[in-house]
Amino acid sequence: MDSRLVQDSQMAVKKSTDIFDKCLKFDKAKTLIAQGLYPYFRMIESAQDPEIVMNGRKMIMVGSNNYLGLTNHPRVKEAAIEAVRKYGTGCAGSRFLNGTLDIHVELEEKLARFMRKEAALIFSTGFQVNLGVISALVGKDDVAIIDKMDHASIIDGCRLSFGEVRKFRHNDMADFERVLKEYEAKDKLVVVDGVFSMEGDIAKLPEIIALSDTYGARVMVDDAHSIGVLGNTGRGTAEYFGMEDAVDLIMGTYSKSLASIGGFIAGSADIIHYIKHVARPLIFSASPPPASVASVSAALDIIENEPERREKLWKNTTKMLMGFKELGFVVGPSQTPIIPVIVGENEKAFLMAMMLEKEGVFANVAVTPAVPNGKALIRTSYMATHTDEHLDIVLRAFEKVGKELGII
Ligand code: PMP
Repeated sequence: MDSRLVQDSQMAVKKSTDIFDKCLKFDKAKTLIAQGLYPYFRMIESAQDPEIVMNGRKMIMVGSNNYLGLTNHPRVKEAAIEAVRKYGTGCAGSRFLNGTLDIHVELEEKLARFMRKEAALIFSTGFQVNLGVISALVGKDDVAIIDKMDHASIIDGCRLSFGEVRKFRHNDMADFERVLKEYEAKDKLVVVDGVFSMEGDIAKLPEIIALSDTYGARVMVDDAHSIGVLGNTGRGTAEYFGMEDAVDLIMGTYSKSLASIGGFIAGSADIIHYIKHVARPLIFSASPPPASVASVSAALDIIENEPERREKLWKNTTKMLMGFKELGFVVGPSQTPIIPVIVGENEKAFLMAMMLEKEGVFANVAVTPAVPNGKALIRTSYMATHTDEHLDIVLRAFEKVGKELGII
């Protein structure tokens, strides 16, 4: 063989190392653990109530998405127990084959009615809804247009699709129109969070819908944090703006106000029928377990019949938004029960979360890349079941820690 050829082929072969090397080198979390600043995977020994137990100690929870406080509601729990008694603990298959129970179909009908859409389809998690729906609808010649701050499951749904993906600046309608114009000739799906999960602000739906109409795009709203929270009757972002007919698809999850785990997409019957036969995360994954389906159904009844829960949630939200602002904290554009407290660099946020924990408050941390550089935050979120006393303790703890850290 020509010696040059041998040399070339040797150069082309890159010597492999070990695919696990990156794991052995990964020390970010280990460093935080060693410094006592690791705020993740904390163990809770009780239900997701306003008061939780951690390490045998009572704490006030301001890090839960249990907005209406239904995860520990007697009627919701009873419904789950009854479903386990009748149907057992799992469905042992996907919705597509053996995993559809009568209660799955009943819940779909109930959700469609609640969302005022023709049909609904339930998945095993909210994450899977976004994966399944976006990848089913956005084909290779299409484009998904998303807000830069959309949830990770929307971004991953786009990644899973064969189409193009374009982001516009967060809630920036001029930038949104620029992208729409650029893709005028393509079929377009716009996907936005109704309530943004870190910022707590609301999508500018009236403008989004008007512009989408102008450029012939379809609109899907992720109402994970809006169902049970926004709108006169808790039906979410579209109801809040009085635009229920104008939104093509609404996705929701059960992991927040609906007190369980799972998710759904609601829309017109033909579109849901298509998704039902194309969405791989639905077809190739086991259906939500009976306990979860039954809890959602019970939670929906409570949402419809007990509006005072939503009213209390908003009372708590207003108190905390005002309370943080009066103390001098920066809460960004929040308008909802998700209230971020912006603290600056990542290290400061980790330290603040641990100091709050010492003061008996459980709050979440969001650092880069989940938030922009220098905008690390403590994410707080509220429940209808928080009392004024709980909230006063939280404000006092934030005041103490905020002063110690020089944030206020
Ligand atoms: N969308 C948004 C906006 C979310 O915040 C979440 C959950 N954090 C999801 C989708 C995924 O929902 P689930 O937890 O049910 O998988």
